[in-house]
Amino acid sequence: MNNKPLRVNIGFIVHESVGYSHEFQFDVEEVNFLKEYVATDLLGSIRFDRTQKGLIAEGNFSAEVINECVRCLDAFSQKIEFSFTELFAFREKDMTEEELLVPESGYIEIEPFIRDFLLLNISNDSICKEDCAGLCLICGINKNKGQCNCEDDVIDPRLSKLKDLLDQDEKQD
Ligand SMILES: [Zn+2]
Ligand SMILES: [Zn+2]
Repeated sequence: MNNKPLRVNIGFIVHESVGYSHEFQFDVEEVNFLKEYVATDLLGSIRFDRTQKGLIAEGNFSAEVINECVRCLDAFSQKIEFSFTELFAFREKDMTEEELLVPESGYIEIEPFIRDFLLLNISNDSICKEDCAGLCLICGINKNKGQCNCEDDVIDPRLSKLKDLLDQDEKQD
């Protein structure tokens, strides 16, 4: 794996004729995209298509992000996949509000896009696994890792009515 910067030289594409396209591959070990988040194994590609007015960039990426489980609060690795399309116009007068300008340097910084899309796609309500047992609400133990004896004694008042009904049911059977 290499850690080349997330920057592409699109200068030569600008000089190609309309219809030309070029794809850049990315394989980046680590991207920091927020103080608390690090994405690893960023893999993907961006294809640039030369059009009359500019370059259309189509990106497809995947990355692993360490996220926090909302049930047990443990860190776990989550795979994020995202794709995007951006248009880089040659001239300012050809730009619409959402569009960008092809930089004079001929280099496009990819990292801001990657960060934005990682942020958009990381969910803040993910669980580490389908059957995550979560934390004990009484003693706080991570029930994926250990057991406690709290549960049997205390029942959520909202559920106690249900339990009464179930108990009655059992007696009738
Ligand atoms: Zn969990
Ligand atoms: Zn407990």
